[in-house]
Amino acid sequence: MSDQMTQLGQLLEAAGGGHVLYVYEDIEAYTSQAVSFITIGIEQGHQIFFIDSQDRYERIYRRLRECLAEDRLGDVRYVNSHEFYQVHEPFSFESVLEQYKDLLVPLSAQGISFRLWAHAEWTEQDGVPCELEQVEQLADYSVTTQGFFTVCCYDGAKLTASMQNKLLRHHEYWLTDRELVRSNLYAKDGPIFAAAAQLRDRRAQDEQDLAMRRKTEEQLRATQSQLESFITRNLDPIIILNLDEKVIRVNQAFERLFGWTNEEMMGLKAAVMPIIPLDRRYEVPRNKHINMTGRNVEGYETIRYRKDGTPVNVMISSFPLLDEDDQLNGRGVIVRDITERMQAQELLIRTEKLSIAGELAAGIAHEIRNPVTAVKGFLHLLQTGGASKQLYFDIMASEIQRIETILSELLMLAKPQAVHYQSRNIAALIRDVITLLDAQANLNNVRILTDFEDEDIRLECEENQIKQVCINFIKNAIEAMPEGGELLIQLARSQELLFIRFIDQGGGIPEQVLARLGQPFYTTKEKGTGLGFMVSRKIIEDHNGTVRVFSEERRGTTIEVSLPLESAKDE
Ligand code: ADP
Ligand code: MG
Repeated sequence: MSDQMTQLGQLLEAAGGGHVLYVYEDIEAYTSQAVSFITIGIEQGHQIFFIDSQDRYERIYRRLRECLAEDRLGDVRYVNSHEFYQVHEPFSFESVLEQYKDLLVPLSAQGISFRLWAHAEWTEQDGVPCELEQVEQLADYSVTTQGFFTVCCYDGAKLTASMQNKLLRHHEYWLTDRELVRSNLYAKDGPIFAAAAQLRDRRAQDEQDLAMRRKTEEQLRATQSQLESFITRNLDPIIILNLDEKVIRVNQAFERLFGWTNEEMMGLKAAVMPIIPLDRRYEVPRNKHINMTGRNVEGYETIRYRKDGTPVNVMISSFPLLDEDDQLNGRGVIVRDITERMQAQELLIRTEKLSIAGELAAGIAHEIRNPVTAVKGFLHLLQTGGASKQLYFDIMASEIQRIETILSELLMLAKPQAVHYQSRNIAALIRDVITLLDAQANLNNVRILTDFEDEDIRLECEENQIKQVCINFIKNAIEAMPEGGELLIQLARSQELLFIRFIDQGGGIPEQVLARLGQPFYTTKEKGTGLGFMVSRKIIEDHNGTVRVFSEERRGTTIEVSLPLESAKDE
């Protein structure tokens, strides 16, 4: 046995390095080889890495203690082979390589001399021989390029012949329990380059990875600063909350709108932020729930308070915030000030209701034109002499009275007209209007016919306004029949409703006009105002009634006004 030890010992002493394949059968012989490997290594001042199983190393250690002082054993670093080869996991070339790198690269970088004893461990599974061969190929490359000793040990009872042949291609020396020989299968060139190339590739890959990581980090930093300025410079107030629903920060727009500073807001729980009215606090957990399930809260309108207690109309939207690993990290809340938009909306509504000064003036001007037209018509008739003057004077007087009322309304411009609802006989009211417009109808070859189901229907109404509606619809009908025709005015009733229908034989209302009917100033007439229909509908709606239009092109139009009768109107 001492012969063999000498053989390995001689090699260790003579050569600068070498890759030895040791296939052992006898554990005693194995122990002796290991002991001489270690003692000679220590003598030569080498660091020794000893990768082996616990029980085998204990056996070796006992032998070492017999021939070496304890303090000299400090140069031996024992590594558990089960852990090193990660025996509990599938054997992997990659992970063994990583282990070697961690263990040896720092040493060779520091110029420390070392040698390695490694007892390969693996459990039976597919692909192991192939992976092991790769490891050994690469180990051989390192050993021969860097010049150190490595003894790779294999249990002869576990090693197949074909595996042994493969390994001999990558080890310069072959050691058994009895002899040390050169491997005649050893192929230093050839496959080595593949391994070297692999190592080079890996280095290149590592460098590439590093460059990529740097680039990604740079991008991340750039994105972060973009995000940062997106938040700080945003014109909309923004609140950032963490996972505990606490304010991490608010931006400048927030400070400007609400008057609370970032410092004052920081750390506050979202639900108790002073900007939230008590009765709106429920919004916070609701929004949180939506965001925490990965969804956005689409803008909704609500109220928030400024520091001075004044309310602000806002549109709130919020969204989940994710960290680099796409994990929920908190949420962002955007609080858009929509005061101006709300004001514009209100303005629009007021405009549509004609309750702003300009609109009212236009409406009233229009209302004056009707009685003036009537008065002019009567004057004309008086000049030409004829019909009963007294009736004309009465009507003219009442029309002038109307003009006066309207003029006084003009003075009160912006103020809403005070309305006096009185019970009126609706049939009589319509006849008055017809009297007023008959002259104009005659001039246009239009005959006004009536079909009143009941002469005694009474309606609680503002008489002048209902007259105005009738004038508008009759005028429109007359104007729709430039060639003349008949206008039938029907008066009918159901249990609860009263119907007034103006049925003309005009050209009808084309669809595109119908769609815009009731929009202020929409007219198809050269001298039209485009206000009549809108004003009329507004008046009817103020009386809780509705206006419906049935029209057929070239056949005529029916305007149906329905109004609730007194008994029905009370509730
Ligand atoms: P104006 O009479 O000043 O044009 P209106 O609001 O009364 O304004 O009517 C708007 C438009 O609706 C008219 O220009 C006309 O084109 C259409 N229209 C209203 N009534 C009738 C009708 N009976 N027959 C046909 N078109 C009508
Ligand atoms: Mg009109």
